[in-house]
Amino acid sequence: MRVLLAGNWKMNGVRASLAEIRALKRSIGAKPAADIVICPPATLLAEAARTVEDAPIGIGAQDCHWEASGAYTGDISAEMLRDAGAMSVILGHSERRQYHGESDRIVAAKIAAAGRAGLMAILCIGESEEQRDGGQAIPVVKNQLKASTEAEVSAAELVVAYEPVWAIGTGRTPKAQEIVEMHDAIRAELKQRFGSEGGQVRILYGGSVKPDNAAEILSLQGVNGALIGGASLRTADFLSILHTLPSR
Ligand code: PEP
Repeated sequence: MRVLLAGNWKMNGVRASLAEIRALKRSIGAKPAADIVICPPATLLAEAARTVEDAPIGIGAQDCHWEASGAYTGDISAEMLRDAGAMSVILGHSERRQYHGESDRIVAAKIAAAGRAGLMAILCIGESEEQRDGGQAIPVVKNQLKASTEAEVSAAELVVAYEPVWAIGTGRTPKAQEIVEMHDAIRAELKQRFGSEGGQVRILYGGSVKPDNAAEILSLQGVNGALIGGASLRTADFLSILHTLPSR
């Protein structure tokens, strides 16, 4: 399975920041060792998509509405993102769940919308620190996955990112064994939900992936790539992570 490295810029970046994407484009060569997706803020999508034309870099968004159009002031539909040049969209990120009250049901509707618009959905799931300390991490994450994929979802258009909430932006990561166990559990759930196609869905790890821990994390069994926040903002860091992978 080909590794996917996805960069989540979150609410960072103005037009001058596109220089980072131009630098990435210059440095990765024609056949990078992974599929690469950069998810800048919505304001930069169209220009970012133009910037990566003819380069092996995809542009993704960070959220979408579940309807195609309508009276939803401030929202952006999956169709609009696609029209702006996005090929994928991050959905159910813990920051959206926390600050915007997104439930699994809403996330499921958004995944269906992404599929309708021809966008690959990068579904984020992950437990809180309290849930991990309480021994509930695996059941919590399996339930999130089940509930977030209850609507119409095609396995071919789905990527799952396991992101323990307590590891995002904190510099802390789970133990290697905990990541392997969780990815195993997610794979089993995907096969339950999608049958053999569930075996082909990429499962990324996300949460404080940096140049100094990427080699270990990306070599773990069942880890098919990474969702990278802070370290995706600087091309040098993102490239260091890419270069930990064996070339094709
Ligand atoms: C993220 O935003 O999905 C993320 C994993 O952030 P960071 O890499 O900064 O922990």
